[in-house]
Amino acid sequence: MQFATLSAGEVPGVPSLDELRGLKPLQQPEWPDPVALEQVIGELRTLPPLVFAGECDDLTTKIGAVARGEAFLLQGGDCAETFAGVTAENIRAKLRVLLQMSVVLQYAASVPVVKVGRIAGQYAKPRSSGEETRDGVTLPTYRGDAVNGLEFTPEARIPDPQRLRGVYNAAAATLNLTRAFTTGGYADLHQVHAWNTDFVKSSPVGQRYEQLASEIERALAFMRACGATADEFKTVDFYASHEALILEYEHALTRIDSRTEQPYDVGGHLLWVGERTRQLDGAHVEFLASLSNPLGVKIGPTTTPEYIRALIDKLNPKGIEGRLTFITRMGAGKIRDGLPPLLEAVRDHGSPIAWVCDPMHGNTFETPNGYKTRSFDAVMDEVQGFFDAHQQVGTWPGGMHIELTGDDVTECVGGGEALVAEDLANRYETACDPRLNRHQSLELAFLVAERLRA
Ligand code: PEP
Ligand code: MN
Repeated sequence: MQFATLSAGEVPGVPSLDELRGLKPLQQPEWPDPVALEQVIGELRTLPPLVFAGECDDLTTKIGAVARGEAFLLQGGDCAETFAGVTAENIRAKLRVLLQMSVVLQYAASVPVVKVGRIAGQYAKPRSSGEETRDGVTLPTYRGDAVNGLEFTPEARIPDPQRLRGVYNAAAATLNLTRAFTTGGYADLHQVHAWNTDFVKSSPVGQRYEQLASEIERALAFMRACGATADEFKTVDFYASHEALILEYEHALTRIDSRTEQPYDVGGHLLWVGERTRQLDGAHVEFLASLSNPLGVKIGPTTTPEYIRALIDKLNPKGIEGRLTFITRMGAGKIRDGLPPLLEAVRDHGSPIAWVCDPMHGNTFETPNGYKTRSFDAVMDEVQGFFDAHQQVGTWPGGMHIELTGDDVTECVGGGEALVAEDLANRYETACDPRLNRHQSLELAFLVAERLRA
């Protein structure tokens, strides 16, 4: 029996934490106190799973339908969740906007929408620079609440391993409320549609979406008249995902499922590896390859067909449908030329892939008044380019990955409210990248719906 030879903290079939550390993982914090770190890791290893392996398998099956062109995936939430953001109001608002978007997309696409939050674990951030300078003072960068504090003081920016326990607690509280909301009546289809009707009435550009909203209204009225009151109208399946960045945390949350005897990272249903840590022989890819969760990989503009084929062989050698999602983040100016060769390479390789568009990360810029922002038009243009590329190659544009919030923040310019750089100061609240606000998110869903029906 393999178990007997394993030392404490090792999981059969998964590289040990020391082996992963030996691969020199990128974007890891320099924890100042290794003893405290090992103690937290030991505690995390004993805590109950946050999600169940069976739920991860269900999500794999659903993403399999996305890969076949029979479902659409909507993944969304904050760039960086914060511990302070774990409030009922915040979680409810985020969920609500995701549910509203899903209804519009599902009607337009006429296929199920697989709903996945960037939620309940999205607490660690890769950074382009390890340092941040303000008014002549230079400090280590903020790496997410999992690692250090956002406050610009030397104390706050020191990595603190106790924060990893905070991630577990915050994720548990968030998942608990999310499960209650999605199964306890809050997700009722009629109610979600009523919220969309309110949006169409109150948005300055709402008229454009009236027809689609009233078509959905008629479809719902027809179902009501038929006496259709199925549970499917009252509850939804909702999944949690985050970037698997801090290997100590992810490894400590990895367990053998008693049912299948396979390893799962039970800190979230779907884990993805980011643009900065997806090296073929790097620690992150090595770790994810050993898990049975559905996986995502961010695919940026420098990606080559050779790399992508090798990545598929590494992360999905058995060609399991729904196992692997590619989240493209090319930039609006690059996607129409950059994506088709990759789509062709994957099509010719033959392995099933769900293709999802992240129109956020390739379109970030700084305003003259110093705010990191994205323009709604560029975001929409990248989504259109994603659809164009798939149309050209004959593949299925499987979904969207959006940084958003349910609140009326002012972080991205443009959209129906025509936000400009000067408006950003009003409510710029993100801990990391700029998010679409509630109106911008719903508008995006209606515009994508138009494209899905075209
Ligand atoms: C992110 O999703 O917040 C992120 C950092 O993305 P990427 O890895 O694509 O840059
Ligand atoms: Mn981001």
